[in-house]
Order: sequence, then structure tokens, then C-alpha cells
Amino acid sequence: MARGGSERRAAEVTAEFDLIDRIRMRADARNDVILGIGDDAAVLQPPAGKQLVVTMDTLNEGVHFPPETAPADIGWKALAVNLSDLAAMAAQPAWCTLSLSLPQAEQAWLDAFIDGFSELAGRHGIALVGGDTTRGPLSVCVTAHGFVDEGRALRRDRAQPGDDIWVSGTLGDAAGALAQWREAKPVVPELKARLDRPTPRIGLGLALAGIANSCIDVSDGLLADLGHICDRSGVGAEVSVTDLPASDALLSVFESEARRVLQTSGGDDYELCFTASSQARNAVEKAGEQSGTRLTRIGCIVAGQGVRALQDDGSRWTPPSVGYTHFVS
Ligand code: ADP
Ligand code: MG
Repeated sequence: MARGGSERRAAEVTAEFDLIDRIRMRADARNDVILGIGDDAAVLQPPAGKQLVVTMDTLNEGVHFPPETAPADIGWKALAVNLSDLAAMAAQPAWCTLSLSLPQAEQAWLDAFIDGFSELAGRHGIALVGGDTTRGPLSVCVTAHGFVDEGRALRRDRAQPGDDIWVSGTLGDAAGALAQWREAKPVVPELKARLDRPTPRIGLGLALAGIANSCIDVSDGLLADLGHICDRSGVGAEVSVTDLPASDALLSVFESEARRVLQTSGGDDYELCFTASSQARNAVEKAGEQSGTRLTRIGCIVAGQGVRALQDDGSRWTPPSVGYTHFVS
């Protein structure tokens, strides 16, 4: 006999609570979480004198990650992209919520997903305090909350003409992995790791508070994201695209022009691009050392508008496209 609607709904509801229970058992505790997962909403105690920084990012299957991505990597990345936003604001991570849309209630998938999520959450002491679980095409949405001292958040709209432009880590690895995957080539493991498990630069962001003038995390491609700093700050930028920091893996796989396209326009890097006065060079380098992050000075902020990509001989380089966009008009 076919199962009745109410019976099927009851089974779905049980499965949902079961899943939520499995998530709750894995959520880390913090003593500023007065009430976490399990009530209608979380009750949280923000510290006195701090400002709350809030961000949200969604990952959809087939749009933000290939369908064959391992569930643990999806869990890691869903949190990482949000932590990267907190890093770009110089915020100390505190709490997060997780909205999961799942095609079916599969415990093994969920446990692996939470493995990846928790591994990164534990590293940054961020507590999962609530969320929502629904049926639907695979989609993961995380909100992350962090703290900054009053007025110390790093913003996009404070770049000054004369500022140095810096970038952390290396660029183009994740886009290189995606390019190999799209061409149905074997994906080099070092590149795939950077696509699946980006490193949010939390330590660097915190160390840059009071030193950098402006900051953004590179999610849509260096030139596009630096363009956002320029737009918001009312300035222009000149970037030397000849010596952008590249990993050994990227250098060994792609020739120079293809590499440059990946590094300037690829996206999914989750590095920090920031500007700071040239008088702050020593302080910036110290912030890099303190946080164990490679830093490269790639250009300077100028009066005017727009980002100019320059080659060694001073000639202008034009990328085939600038960054990733979901909606093309
Ligand atoms: P309500 O119907 O009142 O919104 P839910 O049944 O959706 O409550 O959720 C019950 C509890 O489980 C809430 O505390 C909610 O925040 C938490 N929760 C639900 N889904 C998730 C999830 N994916 N991750 C973390 N917490 C979750
Ligand atoms: Mg409720």
C-alpha cells in the first residue's frame, strides 16, 4: 500500500530532527553561547565594547562547486568562504549558523560534511549556534559573526592615493584546478586542495587592523575585487601583473599567459588584497610574519578610477574577462 501523505511527512520530520541532532552533537561550545542549537533561536552574549561583524555566503552545487566534490570539502568550504569575509574585515570569528538544503536525508553525507565543517570551525574557535534544514537541491548557506574593536573593521572604502597594494598567499590555484576539471583533465592535487579547502586568512586580517587602510578578500578574481576597493574608495589602481605570486604547482602546469589570466581573473582564491600607506611597509611585513602568511606588494593606489594591469615594460595588459559574475546583463 502506498504510504499516506501524513505518514511520509512524519518520516521526513523524524529524519530532519535526526539530522539536526547529529549536527548538535558535533557543535563546539563557547561560554558566550547562552543557548545554542535546540531552541527556536540562539541566545548569544556579545562582549562589551566590541562591534559585531556579520556575513553570509551560499554555495550551490554546480555553481560554486562541482557535483563530485567530497561532502567534507563542501563543509570546509562553506565555512571557509564566510571566515574569509570576516578576515577581510579584521574580525575575530565567534558564532555561525548553517542553512542546509539537501536532496535527501543521508546520514553518511551529513557526517562527512560536518567533519569538514567542524575541522575548520575548531581551528578558529567559531561555534555553530543554529540553522535550518530543508529538502531541496543541494545548497549550503552559512552566516558568520565576529567581533572587532570599535571602529577597527577593515573596509573597502578607505584606500588612499599613494597606498601600496598587497596580496596574501598565491593566486590562481583554485581557478587552475577548475580549468583542469572543465577540460576533463586530471586535476593536480595541490591545485584541487586550494579549490576545495581554501585557507581563510584570519590571523593576517587581525594583524592588519590599524595598519591597512582598506581590504577585501579575493573571491571573484584579483582585478575585479581590487576594482571594488577602487569604486568604493573613489581611487584608481595600478597593478603589476608580471610577478603575481604563484604556487610551484601553478607554475609547473600553466604557461605564463594562461597563468596570468587565472591569477588576475580566476577567483576562488580567498586571499586578502589590501592597501596600506608606504610608511607602513615594515608593519605590514611584520603582520605577514606574525600570521605566517606570505605577502607580495603588487602595485599602488593612484588618483582617478579603475584598475590598470601593467606589464614589466609599463605597457597595459588587458585581461580577456574581469572576474566571475553570476548575472551577465
Ligand atoms: P524552528 O522550526 O523553530 O525554526 P527547527 O526545527 O528548524 O526550529 O530547528 C530546531 C533547532 O535546530 C534550532 O535551534 C535550529 O537553529 C537548529 N538547526 C536546524 N537546522 C540546523 C542546521 N542545519 N545546523 C545547525 N542548527 C540547526
Ligand atoms: Mg520555532
